[in-house]
Amino acid sequence: MVGGGVIGLAAAYRLAESGAAVRLVDASGTTGASWAAAGMLAPISEAVFGEEELTRLNVAAVAQFAAFAAALEDRTNLAVGLRTEGTLAVALNADDRSALDRLSEFRTALGLPSETLNGRQARALEPYLATEVQAGVFAADDLSVDNRSYLQALALANDLAGVESVRDDVTALVRDHGRVTGVRTATGGSLTAASVVLCTGALTQRLAGYPIQPVKGQILRLAVPARLRSSGSVLTRTVRGIVRGSEVYLVPRAGGEVVVGATQEQQGFDTQVTAGGVYELLRNAYELLPISSEFDFVEARAGLRPGSPDNGPLVGPAENGLILATGHYRNGILLSAMTAEAVVRLVAGQPLAEEWKPFGPDRFSPSGHH
Ligand SMILES: Cc1cc2nc3c(=O)[nH]c(=O)nc-3n(C[C@H](O)[C@H](O)[C@H](O)COP(=O)(O)OP(=O)(O)OC[C@H]3O[C@@H](n4cnc5c(N)ncnc54)[C@H](O)[C@@H]3O)c2cc1C
Repeated sequence: MVGGGVIGLAAAYRLAESGAAVRLVDASGTTGASWAAAGMLAPISEAVFGEEELTRLNVAAVAQFAAFAAALEDRTNLAVGLRTEGTLAVALNADDRSALDRLSEFRTALGLPSETLNGRQARALEPYLATEVQAGVFAADDLSVDNRSYLQALALANDLAGVESVRDDVTALVRDHGRVTGVRTATGGSLTAASVVLCTGALTQRLAGYPIQPVKGQILRLAVPARLRSSGSVLTRTVRGIVRGSEVYLVPRAGGEVVVGATQEQQGFDTQVTAGGVYELLRNAYELLPISSEFDFVEARAGLRPGSPDNGPLVGPAENGLILATGHYRNGILLSAMTAEAVVRLVAGQPLAEEWKPFGPDRFSPSGHH
């Protein structure tokens, strides 16, 4: 396995549990997209026009996530912070409301369950929402997870399952007679394997030439101070808003953390946090939830989503001896459990579930690496 983000860790854990000898090589620890992410598991409120097949995959994934997380918690004795209070999408002005209405008609046409609310009903669910909020749509089945706790549990599960972790940068694939037989690393060694699985996120193009582009996301971590928490919960559900045409989400965690995200920028491999990015997120959060200006400011960072040309992941065989599990773009945390199962099947040469059919690497051609 190359890459120890959420995809590599989940896949390595399940592979090792299935009896395979697994070595996971990762260059960076916590600098990937997985550590930055918000942890929404939200196929319904993420469903957008033109991505029906991806929505089907995401719906299948959320159904599997809870069981996967429960098994992981059992195995490690660590909590992953799964939240089941659902997601409330809200609109601030009349234009935002028409945008939300159009999306929710589309989602209903796909058979995704949600409930339409007026402003008053939305505020009944989340009393601190701005009085300007005009309308809402509640998706009870959208979940969230504390992605950092989840990653820590996956890392421990890897150790317990006997995965060998190697901290190194993989610089090239090694081929022999038309088959990938291993990898070369920056420290000069080479490692051989019956199967090489690339879970290299936004960095995939460097090794395998598939068209994965980094999509920068700036994201904040705030915390509800104790004095506000003592009078009850300030935010119970994930709230997503369309605020004068721009989107923002607030994801609450059990300990009082609130994650506010996220920008979407095509900036190459830049992970600099900018004043404008932080300003936009704080302003939109404040417009939706004015009390958020009283939250503590904990962290600002940027991560690189691995984006493909059609926004769908690349999961499947790429060449003899090489499997890809990458390109998860906005949904890698959500898709991690389902991708892990897919990798186990791919390594064993078994067919994948129907939902994966549109997402084989063979829909794109790699450039310049053969
Ligand atoms: C701001 C933001 C918010 C997000 N919110 C959500 C959300 O709410 N829900 C959701 O489901 N998804 C979300 N995502 C998307 C999600 O984070 C990604 O889809 C997911 O993390 C991708 O996981 P990964 O393991 O493929 O990549 P990464 O987490 O980036 O991990 C890749 C790893 O591979 C290593 N690597 C790469 N190349 C090499 C090499 N050659 N040698 C050695 N190591 C290598 C890297 O160092 C890195 O550790 C968000 C992303 C961002 C940026």
